[in-house]
Amino acid sequence: MKTFAVEEVAQHNKPGDLWIIIDANVYDISKFAQLHPGGVGVLTTKSIAGQDATQVFYGLHRQEVILRPQYARLQIGRVQGQEPTILASPTDLSAVPYAEPTWLSAGYYSPYYTESHRRFQREVRKFFMDIVYPDAVKCEDSGKRISQEVVDKICETNILAMRLGKGKHLEGRTLMGGMVKPEEFDHFHELIINFELGRLGTRAYVDGILAGTVIGLPPVLNFGSPEIQNKVVPEVLSGKKFICLAITEAFAGSDVGGLQTTAERDGEFWVINGTKKWITNGIFADYFTVACRTENGYTVVLVPRSDSVETKSIKTAYSSTAGTAYITFDSVRVPVSHTLGKVGYGMQVILSNFNHERWMIVCTALSAQRRIVEECLKWTNQRVAFGKPLNAQAVIRSKLANMIARVEAGQNWLETITHQMNNMSYSEQSDKLAGAIGLLKQFITRTGRETAEDATQIFGGRGITATGMGKLVENFHRTSPYDAILGGAEDVMGDLGVRQAIRRMPPNSRL
Ligand SMILES: Cc1cc2nc3c(=O)[nH]c(=O)nc-3n(C[C@H](O)[C@H](O)[C@H](O)COP(=O)(O)OP(=O)(O)OC[C@H]3O[C@@H](n4cnc5c(N)ncnc54)[C@H](O)[C@@H]3O)c2cc1C
Repeated sequence: MKTFAVEEVAQHNKPGDLWIIIDANVYDISKFAQLHPGGVGVLTTKSIAGQDATQVFYGLHRQEVILRPQYARLQIGRVQGQEPTILASPTDLSAVPYAEPTWLSAGYYSPYYTESHRRFQREVRKFFMDIVYPDAVKCEDSGKRISQEVVDKICETNILAMRLGKGKHLEGRTLMGGMVKPEEFDHFHELIINFELGRLGTRAYVDGILAGTVIGLPPVLNFGSPEIQNKVVPEVLSGKKFICLAITEAFAGSDVGGLQTTAERDGEFWVINGTKKWITNGIFADYFTVACRTENGYTVVLVPRSDSVETKSIKTAYSSTAGTAYITFDSVRVPVSHTLGKVGYGMQVILSNFNHERWMIVCTALSAQRRIVEECLKWTNQRVAFGKPLNAQAVIRSKLANMIARVEAGQNWLETITHQMNNMSYSEQSDKLAGAIGLLKQFITRTGRETAEDATQIFGGRGITATGMGKLVENFHRTSPYDAILGGAEDVMGDLGVRQAIRRMPPNSRL
């Protein structure tokens, strides 16, 4: 690479002949200056033209800007005797304190993670940064659904199958190119996938990357007939077909029992009528796992898309890449063989899904929260106001202290529960963990919104600007309420946990 003395760079300091230094690299911005979105004037000032503009650059732009091909190619060399020190590979572990969970921080220990998890994490991060992230950014912006290329890759690596957790659906599959054997795979491997997804900072895409499958396929796997399973599971886990879970209605959210969609028998068919609201991935789903009211209670039926099923997009505060749908079933005829579980026992099917769904939401929400802590630690270190970095102000440090404490508390609680999931039978989990997962979900979503508020304040105008330095904070601030609502509303989650605790109180307990 060509090298230049600082004095030589300084000669190129006027319009038409303009060089700058950023992190020891020399850029010729003579032509680009006219196209600079912030105007040419800022680049020709004395403190920037021909000078080391590293501080100014990082006061205004994220690292990814300099990595974009159109800007990277403006680099003409390096300053003599200097090496870049700032640019980090997006796949590397962050060295910023608290940016990674303790088990991934150099020099720390954990009782839960093995060498298998460490190898797996490295591979999964690389996959998410190289393959998923570019699509996530594009779709979050355009509102289009996840690209089929990414779907094909998450199916080829079996990331989609792994997101359903441990179980028979993993048998015979090659997981992440053979990195982990199906019988070794545990909930910490699954947690790692959810964490790498959550830290992308594109909340709607977290649902768009087939969350509908993660919650809509388990009832088929656990309660479908062998014929239905043999047809539907391979189609969905190979990315050829999409599925979603359709429980909620305008009439029934937290109070699932209030649902009004009906399934009536007509010989060997169900005839389904009703509506469903806020159904993730519903817009592009081929199958709908539908909770219905039947003569003797509730029944869950797998409904294939047909002309009698209409899906309309619901415009919510996050990107339509999530495929959030309002669904109408207009006398849809479905063979009775599509019943999932026993007729009249649908509530068991619905409830059996909730723990895993809520645990997954906790993982992605907590990881997103941790990413915001990293953003705030970096920003308050680099942003100078009143002649000092922001982190020189005690009030800012106090906000950071609370953010760190919240995310570390959540992480430790989540890992304890994940350890129980690895060691308890399914029925033990249903009995002992439903309340704890509810309380944990309430804790994570409440602390997430506190951190969103603090982060927005710390980032100032950038915290409410969808592009640039504060874009992750803006996304998190706008979307952190989602996790407090979907999969079970925050207040309902807390109440569930306490009600279960009350039920377990020893009858003779006294002060
Ligand atoms: C973006 C998005 C995606 C979703 N995806 C799906 C999906 O894929 N499939 C699906 O079936 N559903 C989905 N949902 C629906 C979601 O599960 C419901 O929105 C949620 O269960 C809350 O129901 P509700 O919105 O009707 O609120 P309501 O039930 O009307 O409750 C409103 C509020 O009242 C309070 N409240 C209610 N009951 C109690 C109580 N007993 N104790 C204390 N407070 C209470 C809570 O604060 C609650 O937030 C999605 C929702 C959204 C917004």
